[in-house]
Amino acid sequence: MSIPVNARHASAYRARDVPAPLQVTDGVWAVPVPLRGSPLGFITVFLIETPEGLVLIDAGYEHPSCWESFTRSVAEIGHDLAAVQLVLLTHNHPDHVGFADRVRAASGARVVMGRDDDFSHQNRVRGGGFLVQLGRALEQTGAPREVIDGMYGDAIGVARHSESLDLDLAPERDSEHVLGDVTILGLHTPGHTYGHTVYVDTSRGVVFTGDTMMAEGPTQLAIPSLPGDDPAGDLLRSLDRIRDLEVEIACPAHQFPYRDIAARADELKAFHQAELDTVERLLRTHDSAWEIVPHLKRTKPWEELGTGTKRFALIHTLSLILGVTR
Ligand SMILES: [Zn+2]
Ligand SMILES: [Zn+2]
Repeated sequence: MSIPVNARHASAYRARDVPAPLQVTDGVWAVPVPLRGSPLGFITVFLIETPEGLVLIDAGYEHPSCWESFTRSVAEIGHDLAAVQLVLLTHNHPDHVGFADRVRAASGARVVMGRDDDFSHQNRVRGGGFLVQLGRALEQTGAPREVIDGMYGDAIGVARHSESLDLDLAPERDSEHVLGDVTILGLHTPGHTYGHTVYVDTSRGVVFTGDTMMAEGPTQLAIPSLPGDDPAGDLLRSLDRIRDLEVEIACPAHQFPYRDIAARADELKAFHQAELDTVERLLRTHDSAWEIVPHLKRTKPWEELGTGTKRFALIHTLSLILGVTR
């Protein structure tokens, strides 16, 4: 069980409320932004104070309600949007990149994200963006045609997001951002996506973990769409990297900030390693992700999951299979 940094943030998450903005530690603010209609409830973006202005970690969902909530919260904690110098995006999912363009327009900030999550890069090396990759992966799951078509159709709505976001900087791997006496390291930590990056405020001992290491629950694995893709192996290595940072506080994009990062990294690694072991065993008597997915442990039985959740589970299972068969 993770130790919350702030009990109010954790209890709001458990009560399915959106907490008000709050200080995580000196100079670091958590700004929860509501995600209406999403089971996640809210995403937390973070503001870091530096002598040269503000750094924003992640940028919510592209919806007027998110933008309004975000700008109201920034004013509430006494900051000015125009002071944002840098927008550091952990990864290219719609709930993380939504208003990056708007922040850049309001402040002139530079927008940064890992190169492998940049869709123009993906178009070149993966032959297309999210839907192309999803379609290619679904074909490998062994699911019946009508299931594949249903899952693909269901994903079209959420796929339309900042595939056109222009980045000012797209580091291939790690990066370093110096603003006065504040240094923020970007660490390439793939697994949830191929370009996923966690950011470390080295002087304050805080790591912003995006969707790679939340306070509780598993990490969703990336869509495998090219030969050689191994999101499960990537994730295990990324968790080692985060554990070995020896920093105090983890700030994930969902749920709540927590302490004792090493214990959490080990717990999450053990969970995914157990999943890999289960899949390895099931592969002796089952042939495909579609046959295996109902047997994996989740919060609800397979039959009770909605189309979107089933799609996530099926892709996750395909990634686990690649993790044990490669
Ligand atoms: Zn994500
Ligand atoms: Zn997310």
